[in-house]
Amino acid sequence: MKTQEIEKAAIEVFGKESQKDIFIEESAELTKELLKERRGADNLTAILEEMADVDIALDQMKLIYGSCEKIKEKKIIKLEDKIARSNIEETPEDLSTLYMEVEEN
Ligand SMILES: [Mg+2]
Repeated sequence: MKTQEIEKAAIEVFGKESQKDIFIEESAELTKELLKERRGADNLTAILEEMADVDIALDQMKLIYGSCEKIKEKKIIKLEDKIARSNIEETPEDLSTLYMEVEEN
């Protein structure tokens, strides 16, 4: 079976509510590993394991609730704008240089 077929089968066999609970659990496990890393743990393998678990569980959320791809695209554009704004705000000296260049032209 391919990945999506297996994920669909998991929803059919264990039920939507169970797989939602799994997503919540896996998200918490990833959160826990990231917090351990912050406290100085050398736990890259554990983080990658939990990322894989979350990825599989998120695929199932998409099968249950539908694709979030269009919303994601809009959010990516907003994120791009935010990055562009932060670059301007964080380098005021560059901005003043820019104004000087505009005034000269
Ligand atoms: Mg896990």
